[in-house]
Amino acid sequence: MSWETVIGLEIHVQLSTKSKLFSGGSTEFGAESNTHVDLVDMGLPGVLPVANREAFYKAIRFGLATGANINQTSSFDRKNYFYPDLPKGYQITQMEQPIIENGSIKISVDDYEKKINITRAHLEEDAGKSIHDMFEGETGVDLNRAGTPLLEIVSEPEISSAKEAVAYFKAIRQLVTFLDICDGNMAQGSMRCDVNVSIRKSGDKELGIRAELKNINSFKFIEKAINFEINRQIKLIENGESVVQETRLYDSDKNETRSMRSKEEANDYRYFPCPDLLPVIISDKELKEIKENLPELPEEKEIRYVNEIGLEESEATIIASSKTMANMFEEASSKTDDAGLVAKWLVGDVSALLNKNNIDIDESNLSPENFGKLIERISDGTISGKIAKSVLEEVWETASDVDQIIESKGLIQIQDENLLENVAKKIIESNPDQVKAYKSGKDKLFGFFVGQVMKETQGKANPKTVNEILIGLLK
Ligand code: ADP
Ligand code: MG
Repeated sequence: MSWETVIGLEIHVQLSTKSKLFSGGSTEFGAESNTHVDLVDMGLPGVLPVANREAFYKAIRFGLATGANINQTSSFDRKNYFYPDLPKGYQITQMEQPIIENGSIKISVDDYEKKINITRAHLEEDAGKSIHDMFEGETGVDLNRAGTPLLEIVSEPEISSAKEAVAYFKAIRQLVTFLDICDGNMAQGSMRCDVNVSIRKSGDKELGIRAELKNINSFKFIEKAINFEINRQIKLIENGESVVQETRLYDSDKNETRSMRSKEEANDYRYFPCPDLLPVIISDKELKEIKENLPELPEEKEIRYVNEIGLEESEATIIASSKTMANMFEEASSKTDDAGLVAKWLVGDVSALLNKNNIDIDESNLSPENFGKLIERISDGTISGKIAKSVLEEVWETASDVDQIIESKGLIQIQDENLLENVAKKIIESNPDQVKAYKSGKDKLFGFFVGQVMKETQGKANPKTVNEILIGLLK
């Protein structure tokens, strides 16, 4: 029997507003527990929420960038449930009239591209956090996160494999970071996702029964959890049993999913319009202003890099793939006339280090400013390309300042022709056999002499000057 996988993702994106969705409480991450909590976030009786317009503007940017409908009138509902980190006893969300509907995003997987439709994206408030590891035998509640604005992005059930799901998540992350509406920091929980997975017989029209995998927060785990779940469901069905609709938890230590609770239905939550909040109306003027100030998106960047700056298409694709990488390129390009050199370093040595360490550029120690300095020092002749490599490696390990590394290690390129000529003469004198062979036509040996001079100067000689000197001496 051949089976087809169907996946739909619900991604919670933490919007990078300064204050919360319904209060003036700060959204800053990492503060001491319960210090960023307003009366509204505590759910005290008698206080009223006020909607933060900035959150709407950020949501609208996402809608515009995905070609979606922007509902200029949207409203809030209460989703009722009990949990210690939700003191009000309900979450304020948009059930009936979400701000965004019917968008789409392009993903690329291996050698094909696919469009994934986005059903809706709605605003809602985050809950607090239960802290299980701080007090012996007791659970603490930290409400700092309560009320932080989230944009929940819901995809159509059109994703067909774990790989596509990861590609979709990455595309959303790329977009929200370029739009500057979320910092994309997965380790801090700025993006979290619930994965709905079902299988059906190949060719079937009807959807199978799904399991919902909760709160998976890394690319690697999305892929593993889905693949585990697909196999589990196939085995069940092939053994004559059936999948039950339920919420499952992915355990990354054991690489398995476990049942958490049976899936709740919408009516379990007793949704009703939030009586404390009026519908929010976005004027044509506001919408126009947001449209006009939309930042440059990855695809537009890619085209500009090729057409206006003259990069190879493959270089432009890699560089425009992440906001940090694009920032680095643009920052460093302003320090030199040679944008091609900048691209070469990013696509070459920097990407190689990223691959080797299997990290994203924003997780690395390399900052756009420091990378810009590195390029500046190469193009003004302070250091050779070879030394630059070792400086880059040092920055990679220690995040130290490029100029400081160059100075403290005495890496400044040797330009002094007299000094270099003396070194070259010494090399020629001590290698008579190679000189003879070279002069009788073994041209390739030229590289040997260059190499020896570089070695003698610990890689600090200016290679161009060395070449010129050796050509003269070996005539
Ligand atoms: P709920 O809000 O109860 O989780 P929704 O109908 O809003 O349910 O769907 C949530 C997500 O689940 C969407 O991304 C949707 O595409 C996906 N989904 C719905 N049905 C299935 C299914 N049978 N198999 C896989 N994904 C599904
Ligand atoms: Mg759900």
